[in-house]
This record gives sequence, C-alpha cells and structure tokens, in this order.
Amino acid sequence: MCIFCKVAKKEIPARIVLEDDDLVAFHDINPVAPIHVLVIPKQHITGIGDVTDEHALVLGKLLVAARRIAEDAGLLQSGFRVVINHGQHAGQTVHHVHVHVLGGRLLAWPPG
Ligand code: 5GP
Ligand code: ZN
Repeated sequence: MCIFCKVAKKEIPARIVLEDDDLVAFHDINPVAPIHVLVIPKQHITGIGDVTDEHALVLGKLLVAARRIAEDAGLLQSGFRVVINHGQHAGQTVHHVHVHVLGGRLLAWPPG
C-alpha cells in the first residue's frame, strides 16, 4: 500500500485539517510555504496523468476542498496556489495523486 493510502487509512500519522468520505487533507511533512497542505483522494489514483472521466467527481472535490482549506487558513484575500505534480520532470515523489495548497508568502511564477 502506498504512503498516502496509509495516511488515508490512519496507518501512519498526519496532521489532518479536513476529511470526508472521499478525501483527506493534511499538512505536508516538509512544508515549502507557511501554509502547505496536501489534499488526496481516499481512492488510490497514481497521478493526474492517469485519470479518466470516472475520476472527474473526486477530482472536482479535491479542488473544492483546496478552496475551503485556503479559506480556513485566511488565504482567500492574499492568494494561494494549487499544484499537482505528475512524473519525473514535475518532481512527483509520491505516486498517489495529491493537490498541494500553498500560501502565506509571495510565490514566484513561473516556478523553477
Ligand atoms: P510531490 O513532490 O510528489 O508532488 O509531493 C509529495 C509531497 O508529500 C512532498 O511535499 C513531501 O514533503 C510530502 N510527503 C511525503 N511523505 C509524506 C508523509 O509521510 N507525510 C506527509 N504529511 N507529507 C509527506
Ligand atoms: Zn495510494
């Protein structure tokens, strides 16, 4: 079982900020911004490059949750970024799709 499936099943600890039947959101263990939360589906999906129409509903829920996390963290006015990395060139290290919610500082664009 992958590491994020273990987080979803509470088999390894995480600082959870939001959870429902379909998804879990928790603080990144190695934050790169003052707010750095990951939102994952409870269902194992390897990456955004692997999704099909059947994943559309849960993917939409991940983005709505990202907005809710940003609101709860007070980021709606200052701004925030959502990121999904896929594959080697994007630096994906955990092969269970996850949305990064980043904020609390000025974020450079384009990213490196
Ligand atoms: P990726 O580079 O795949 O887009 O992002 C994976 C993220 O997961 C990284 O930011 C990394 O710090 C985070 N991460 C990896 N393992 C764990 C873990 O066990 N717990 C938590 N909370 N975050 C993790
Ligand atoms: Zn998984």
